Amino acid sequence: MAKGFFIDLTKCTACRGCQVACKQWKKLPGEKTQNWGSHQNPKDLSYITLKVVHFQEVVVDNKLDYIFFPEQCRHCVSAPCAMQAAKPGAIIQDEATGAVIYTEKTAELKFQDVADSCPYKIPRMDAKTKRISKCDMCLDRVQNNKLPACVLTCPTGAMNFGELEAMSAMAKKRLEEVKKTTPKAVLGDPDDVRVIYLFPVDPKLYHQNAVASLEAPLMTRKQLLAKAATPLRRLFS
Ligand code: SF4
Ligand code: SF4
Repeated sequence: MAKGFFIDLTKCTACRGCQVACKQWKKLPGEKTQNWGSHQNPKDLSYITLKVVHFQEVVVDNKLDYIFFPEQCRHCVSAPCAMQAAKPGAIIQDEATGAVIYTEKTAELKFQDVADSCPYKIPRMDAKTKRISKCDMCLDRVQNNKLPACVLTCPTGAMNFGELEAMSAMAKKRLEEVKKTTPKAVLGDPDDVRVIYLFPVDPKLYHQNAVASLEAPLMTRKQLLAKAATPLRRLFS
């Protein structure tokens, strides 16, 4: 059964438990960071940081607010990164869950093509090995009936995981509740992704790539052409 996340940003307190749990489960090292004027740390995703909680100070309706965005791969329903990948087996979509998985063969892909194909600008490359990485939905845990590490750790109920249909229903129900007090609340691209965020205020206040649909379509003409050319490339690879 297809799986999905529902991330309710009204409940996120920026404790960063999810960010740390991801590192812990994946045995990923910490980043060398420096103070750049924000409590957010590190500043961005990287090859070894697959989930990062963004902090933003914003003014909404003349009131100062502090908003938080735990950023990760959205495991797109029809993943543009997987569709454009010219090397078979480099980016695969798990049939049972829909998780989009990057393998060691990503080292044979052109990083910029992969990065450009992602409407959320998620993939990151290791400078030494040229391998590309991102969240893999903790597929090893999910296949053993366990929650992704980030979801298990979240103390507030912001992170939820389960059947995609159930997560979608949960997101829609919660949106209706939140809209009663925060009428501008929206879901982020709910029909196109397996990681559905509920944004109480304008998604662009959280992060410039928080949603794809406002500016970039999930698949551009260039990507569609690349997809159409893929079988030909495979014949000659
Ligand atoms: S969010 Fe980006 S990296 Fe993740 S599946 Fe979609 S296109 Fe691929
Ligand atoms: S663990 Fe939950 S509350 Fe803490 S930062 Fe992550 S999503 Fe937010």
